[in-house]
Amino acid sequence: MTAAQEFKLTGIAFPTDAVAMLGEVCEHFVEHADVQRNDDVAVLTSKLGTVSIRVKADKLLIELACPTAEALLMSRTSIAEHLFYFAGEDPLELSWSDSTPLALLPNIHEATVLRSEDITPRMRRVTFSCADVTPFIGGDMHVRLLVPAKGRTPVWPGLRPDGRVAWPEGDDELLVRVYTIRTVDIDRRELSIDFLQHPARGVKTPGADFARDVEPGQSVALLGPGGGNLPDTQSILLAGDESALPAIARIAEELPAGSRLQAIIEVLDGPEEQQLSSAGSLDVRWLHRCDYPAGAKGTLVEETKKAVALMGSETFVWFAAEKEDVRAIRAFLKGRQHDRKNMYVAWYWERDHD
Ligand SMILES: Cc1cc2nc3c(=O)[nH]c(=O)nc-3n(C[C@H](O)[C@H](O)[C@H](O)COP(=O)(O)OP(=O)(O)OC[C@H]3O[C@@H](n4cnc5c(N)ncnc54)[C@H](O)[C@@H]3O)c2cc1C
Repeated sequence: MTAAQEFKLTGIAFPTDAVAMLGEVCEHFVEHADVQRNDDVAVLTSKLGTVSIRVKADKLLIELACPTAEALLMSRTSIAEHLFYFAGEDPLELSWSDSTPLALLPNIHEATVLRSEDITPRMRRVTFSCADVTPFIGGDMHVRLLVPAKGRTPVWPGLRPDGRVAWPEGDDELLVRVYTIRTVDIDRRELSIDFLQHPARGVKTPGADFARDVEPGQSVALLGPGGGNLPDTQSILLAGDESALPAIARIAEELPAGSRLQAIIEVLDGPEEQQLSSAGSLDVRWLHRCDYPAGAKGTLVEETKKAVALMGSETFVWFAAEKEDVRAIRAFLKGRQHDRKNMYVAWYWERDHD
């Protein structure tokens, strides 16, 4: 982090097991930040700023230093949400030197649905108008889409004194799903998201259904952007299924001339393929699930492994798909001692085993 870290905050957490929790923090954040661990102290550095966490007796002493007030709030929320997540059912006390609650989250952007259209038989694009699209240009490309119940005046989330998000409840409860901002039109102040219409027998699919049924004028909010910024690399392997296709397409479009991109994308069949463009050299291979032999498993994983094996260790490996596939690729890259800074491996959805 080069910018001055002028905005500071301290916190104190009392978990059941402070050392174990520091371990969980380090293991999780290594995917999102530079993590330096030295015995009982961990320092996490990302573009939000610096978080240092020290174990002292049974507590965690937390110091946040960020370049902006907004980054400080986001950093506090991220740490608070994760600490409570890691605590699970165990009790956790968390307090901050500034614990002012907020009526509205700082990184929330209200948007209005303008139109929706099928761009392939199973991919539906929804375009939104948004007063300020600048936060969505370049950099991070993922958001949490917040949708209020039909006909309900939206109540958007704020911040609790402990830093966690205060989600509206009861009739004001929001549908929350993570998506990729696929396109940004600065002049028209428009954004779009591509929603896979994934079939789930007998199970509700609220995110996909929103895109299928939405009408112009519907109010939503976009929380973010965050997570998944443009890899800083000359050579990249992009691999994933349809849920990752919007992110793959956007990365391909945004990487500069001179980049070498290879993509392996799994879709249902030929009509689901999309035209991808890039200023760099782009080689796309489509895998069609409908052509796999009955009972075939792990084809995307195997094809990705083969491609990685043929590449130099400097190649950035970007992989996003179902949770089990992601676990397999993580283990494979770990086995090859692929540099963690040279990879983005994230699960975008989880198969229902029921
Ligand atoms: C960082 C990130 C970016 C993402 N970007 C996009 C994007 O741009 N476009 C997009 O379409 N998705 C994207 N996803 C994936 C999306 O968030 C999930 O697919 C989400 O579960 C969809 O919500 P839902 O309400 O439709 O289904 P859910 O209510 O979450 O799940 C209902 C059922 O559908 C199954 N299911 C969920 N997703 C899929 C899928 N992709 N394929 C097959 N079955 C599925 C579940 O196993 C479950 O049985 C992204 C996820 C992440 C983490």
